[in-house]
Amino acid sequence: MKKPVIAIDGYSSTGKSSISKVIADKLGLIHLDTGALYRGVTWFALQHCKDENGLIDLNLLFSSLDKIQLEFKNNDGELVLYLNQNDISKEIRSNEVSDNVSLVAKQKEVRDFLLQSQRSLADKGGIIMDGRDIGTVVLPNADFKFFLTASIDERTKRRYHELLSLDIEANEQQVKENLIERDKIDSEREIAPLRKAEDAIVIDNTKLSKKETIEAILAYIQKI
Ligand code: C5P
Repeated sequence: MKKPVIAIDGYSSTGKSSISKVIADKLGLIHLDTGALYRGVTWFALQHCKDENGLIDLNLLFSSLDKIQLEFKNNDGELVLYLNQNDISKEIRSNEVSDNVSLVAKQKEVRDFLLQSQRSLADKGGIIMDGRDIGTVVLPNADFKFFLTASIDERTKRRYHELLSLDIEANEQQVKENLIERDKIDSEREIAPLRKAEDAIVIDNTKLSKKETIEAILAYIQKI
Protein backbone atom coordinates (compact mmCIF):
# COMPACT_ATOMS: atom_id res chain seq x y z
CA MET A 1 0.00 0.00 0.00
CA LYS A 2 1.28 3.49 -0.84
CA LYS A 3 2.27 5.40 2.27
CA PRO A 4 0.29 8.58 2.94
CA VAL A 5 1.25 12.22 2.62
CA ILE A 6 0.12 14.09 5.73
CA ALA A 7 0.03 17.87 6.23
CA ILE A 8 -0.03 19.33 9.74
CA ASP A 9 -0.53 23.07 10.06
CA GLY A 10 -1.48 25.30 12.93
CA TYR A 11 -0.57 27.99 15.38
CA SER A 12 2.82 28.28 17.09
CA SER A 13 3.47 25.85 19.92
CA THR A 14 0.52 23.57 19.32
CA GLY A 15 2.97 20.66 19.30
CA LYS A 16 2.96 20.16 15.53
CA SER A 17 6.57 19.01 15.23
CA SER A 18 6.83 16.74 18.23
CA ILE A 19 3.50 15.12 17.38
CA SER A 20 4.49 14.70 13.73
CA LYS A 21 7.72 13.04 14.77
CA VAL A 22 5.92 10.39 16.81
CA ILE A 23 3.41 9.72 14.03
CA ALA A 24 6.26 9.43 11.53
CA ASP A 25 7.96 6.82 13.72
CA LYS A 26 4.73 4.88 14.18
CA LEU A 27 3.77 4.83 10.50
CA GLY A 28 7.28 4.62 9.02
CA LEU A 29 7.12 8.05 7.38
CA ILE A 30 9.70 10.76 6.83
CA HIS A 31 9.11 13.81 9.02
CA LEU A 32 9.88 17.32 7.80
CA ASP A 33 9.66 20.22 10.28
CA THR A 34 9.39 23.10 7.80
CA GLY A 35 9.51 25.71 10.57
CA ALA A 36 13.11 24.62 11.20
CA LEU A 37 13.97 25.56 7.60
CA TYR A 38 12.61 29.10 8.02
CA ARG A 39 14.47 29.30 11.32
CA GLY A 40 17.65 28.12 9.58
CA VAL A 41 17.41 30.88 6.97
CA THR A 42 16.79 33.38 9.78
CA TRP A 43 19.84 32.17 11.70
CA PHE A 44 21.95 32.60 8.55
CA ALA A 45 20.56 36.14 8.09
CA LEU A 46 21.38 37.05 11.69
CA GLN A 47 24.95 35.85 11.19
CA HIS A 48 25.68 37.26 7.75
CA CYS A 49 23.08 39.81 6.65
CA LYS A 50 22.76 42.53 9.28
CA ASP A 51 22.77 46.23 8.45
CA GLU A 52 24.59 48.94 10.45
CA ASN A 53 21.65 49.12 12.90
CA GLY A 54 21.84 45.43 13.66
CA LEU A 55 18.66 44.63 11.72
CA ILE A 56 18.36 42.02 9.00
CA ASP A 57 19.14 43.50 5.59
CA LEU A 58 16.57 41.66 3.49
CA ASN A 59 18.09 42.55 0.13
CA LEU A 60 21.44 41.23 1.27
CA LEU A 61 19.70 38.06 2.44
CA PHE A 62 17.95 37.61 -0.94
CA SER A 63 21.24 37.93 -2.81
CA SER A 64 22.88 35.46 -0.39
CA LEU A 65 20.25 32.70 -0.57
CA ASP A 66 22.45 30.67 -2.93
CA LYS A 67 25.02 30.42 -0.11
CA ILE A 68 22.55 28.61 2.15
CA GLN A 69 22.57 24.85 2.24
CA LEU A 70 20.18 23.34 4.76
CA GLU A 71 19.94 19.63 5.42
CA PHE A 72 18.64 17.32 8.10
CA LYS A 73 20.94 14.57 9.36
CA ASN A 74 19.89 11.65 11.48
CA ASN A 75 21.83 11.67 14.77
CA ASP A 76 20.74 8.61 16.77
CA GLY A 77 17.13 8.89 15.64
CA GLU A 78 17.02 12.68 16.15
CA LEU A 79 16.78 14.76 12.99
CA VAL A 80 19.31 17.54 13.36
CA LEU A 81 19.40 20.62 11.11
CA TYR A 82 22.72 21.55 9.51
CA LEU A 83 23.49 24.85 7.85
CA ASN A 84 26.47 24.58 5.52
CA GLN A 85 27.72 21.52 7.45
CA ASN A 86 27.26 23.07 10.92
CA ASP A 87 24.77 21.74 13.45
CA ILE A 88 22.39 24.65 14.17
CA SER A 89 19.68 22.70 16.00
CA LYS A 90 20.09 24.66 19.21
CA GLU A 91 20.67 28.08 17.61
CA ILE A 92 17.42 27.95 15.64
CA ARG A 93 15.44 27.77 18.91
CA SER A 94 17.04 30.94 20.30
CA ASN A 95 14.93 33.97 21.20
CA GLU A 96 16.72 36.04 18.57
CA VAL A 97 15.61 33.64 15.85
CA SER A 98 12.04 33.44 17.21
CA ASP A 99 11.86 37.24 17.23
CA ASN A 100 12.92 37.53 13.56
CA VAL A 101 11.67 34.41 11.82
CA SER A 102 8.22 35.64 10.83
CA LEU A 103 9.66 38.73 9.16
CA VAL A 104 11.99 36.50 7.14
CA ALA A 105 9.27 33.92 6.41
CA LYS A 106 6.89 36.46 4.92
CA GLN A 107 9.32 37.31 2.10
CA LYS A 108 8.46 35.87 -1.32
CA GLU A 109 12.14 35.27 -2.15
CA VAL A 110 12.59 33.16 0.96
CA ARG A 111 9.38 31.18 0.45
CA ASP A 112 10.24 30.49 -3.19
CA PHE A 113 13.72 29.38 -2.15
CA LEU A 114 12.31 26.77 0.26
CA LEU A 115 9.20 25.67 -1.63
CA GLN A 116 10.58 23.33 -4.26
CA SER A 117 12.69 21.23 -1.93
CA GLN A 118 9.70 20.76 0.38
CA ARG A 119 7.51 19.63 -2.51
CA SER A 120 10.02 17.29 -4.05
CA LEU A 121 10.47 15.48 -0.74
CA ALA A 122 6.81 14.50 -0.91
CA ASP A 123 6.95 13.13 -4.48
CA LYS A 124 7.32 9.54 -3.39
CA GLY A 125 4.69 9.71 -0.61
CA GLY A 126 5.35 8.48 2.91
CA ILE A 127 5.88 11.86 4.54
CA ILE A 128 4.42 13.98 7.30
CA MET A 129 5.23 17.66 6.99
CA ASP A 130 4.38 20.31 9.54
CA GLY A 131 4.26 24.08 9.16
CA ARG A 132 1.88 26.91 8.35
CA ASP A 133 1.08 26.51 4.64
CA ILE A 134 1.50 22.80 4.05
CA GLY A 135 -2.15 21.91 3.42
CA THR A 136 -2.87 25.13 1.53
CA VAL A 137 0.25 25.71 -0.62
CA VAL A 138 3.04 23.15 -0.31
CA LEU A 139 0.98 19.95 -0.50
CA PRO A 140 -2.58 20.89 -1.49
CA ASN A 141 -3.20 17.28 -2.57
CA ALA A 142 -2.06 15.70 0.72
CA ASP A 143 -4.00 12.58 1.70
CA PHE A 144 -4.68 13.96 5.18
CA LYS A 145 -4.67 17.51 6.47
CA PHE A 146 -4.85 18.56 10.09
CA PHE A 147 -4.95 22.01 11.63
CA LEU A 148 -3.87 22.27 15.27
CA THR A 149 -4.93 25.00 17.63
CA ALA A 150 -4.89 25.60 21.41
CA SER A 151 -5.43 28.51 23.78
CA ILE A 152 -2.66 31.12 23.96
CA ASP A 153 -2.05 30.43 27.66
CA GLU A 154 -1.59 26.72 27.11
CA ARG A 155 0.73 27.34 24.16
CA THR A 156 2.75 29.84 26.17
CA LYS A 157 3.21 27.29 28.94
CA ARG A 158 4.38 24.65 26.46
CA ARG A 159 6.89 26.91 24.71
CA TYR A 160 8.19 28.26 28.01
CA HIS A 161 8.91 24.75 29.31
CA GLU A 162 10.41 23.71 25.98
CA LEU A 163 12.87 26.64 26.13
CA LEU A 164 13.83 25.84 29.72
CA SER A 165 14.43 22.21 28.77
CA LEU A 166 16.80 23.45 26.05
CA ASP A 167 18.64 25.63 28.61
CA ILE A 168 17.46 28.78 26.83
CA GLU A 169 16.63 31.71 29.08
CA ALA A 170 12.91 32.43 28.98
CA ASN A 171 10.37 34.84 30.39
CA GLU A 172 6.73 33.73 30.19
CA GLN A 173 5.34 37.13 29.25
CA GLN A 174 7.89 37.55 26.45
CA VAL A 175 7.18 34.05 25.19
CA LYS A 176 3.48 34.87 25.05
CA GLU A 177 4.08 38.14 23.20
CA ASN A 178 6.32 36.37 20.69
CA LEU A 179 3.68 33.71 19.97
CA ILE A 180 0.96 36.35 19.50
CA GLU A 181 3.18 38.46 17.27
CA ARG A 182 4.30 35.53 15.10
CA ASP A 183 0.77 34.20 14.66
CA LYS A 184 -0.36 37.69 13.64
CA ILE A 185 2.40 38.18 11.06
CA ASP A 186 2.00 34.60 9.79
CA SER A 187 -1.79 34.94 9.43
CA GLU A 188 -1.76 38.39 7.84
CA ARG A 189 1.06 38.00 5.34
CA GLU A 190 0.25 38.15 1.64
CA ILE A 191 2.03 35.00 0.52
CA ALA A 192 1.00 31.62 1.91
CA PRO A 193 -0.63 32.94 5.08
CA LEU A 194 -1.29 30.69 8.03
CA ARG A 195 -4.83 29.44 7.62
CA LYS A 196 -6.76 26.22 7.74
CA ALA A 197 -7.11 24.44 4.40
CA GLU A 198 -10.79 23.98 3.56
CA ASP A 199 -10.48 20.22 3.79
CA ALA A 200 -8.36 20.13 6.97
CA ILE A 201 -9.55 18.54 10.19
CA VAL A 202 -9.27 20.95 13.14
CA ILE A 203 -7.96 19.64 16.44
CA ASP A 204 -8.04 21.94 19.46
CA ASN A 205 -5.59 20.33 21.87
CA THR A 206 -5.85 22.84 24.72
CA LYS A 207 -7.09 20.08 26.98
CA LEU A 208 -5.44 17.16 25.23
CA SER A 209 -2.06 15.68 26.10
CA LYS A 210 0.46 15.05 23.38
CA LYS A 211 -0.49 11.36 23.47
CA GLU A 212 -4.21 12.14 23.12
CA THR A 213 -3.56 14.47 20.19
CA ILE A 214 -1.55 11.75 18.47
CA GLU A 215 -4.34 9.25 19.07
CA ALA A 216 -6.91 11.65 17.62
CA ILE A 217 -4.85 12.08 14.46
CA LEU A 218 -4.16 8.35 14.12
CA ALA A 219 -7.86 7.60 14.55
CA TYR A 220 -8.61 9.65 11.43
CA ILE A 221 -5.77 8.16 9.43
CA GLN A 222 -6.50 4.58 10.36
CA LYS A 223 -10.27 4.89 9.87
CA ILE A 224 -9.85 5.16 6.12
O1 C5P B 1 7.07 25.88 13.45
P1 C5P B 1 7.92 27.00 14.02
O2 C5P B 1 7.26 27.71 15.15
O3 C5P B 1 9.31 26.57 14.33
O4 C5P B 1 8.02 28.04 12.80
C1 C5P B 1 8.73 29.24 12.92
C2 C5P B 1 8.20 30.27 11.93
O5 C5P B 1 8.49 29.85 10.60
C3 C5P B 1 6.70 30.52 11.94
O6 C5P B 1 6.29 31.43 12.94
C4 C5P B 1 6.47 31.08 10.54
O7 C5P B 1 6.82 32.45 10.49
C5 C5P B 1 7.50 30.33 9.71
N1 C5P B 1 6.93 29.20 8.96
C6 C5P B 1 6.25 29.47 7.79
N2 C5P B 1 5.79 28.45 7.02
C7 C5P B 1 5.95 27.17 7.39
C8 C5P B 1 6.61 26.87 8.61
C9 C5P B 1 7.06 27.92 9.39
O8 C5P B 1 6.08 30.63 7.43
N3 C5P B 1 5.51 26.20 6.60
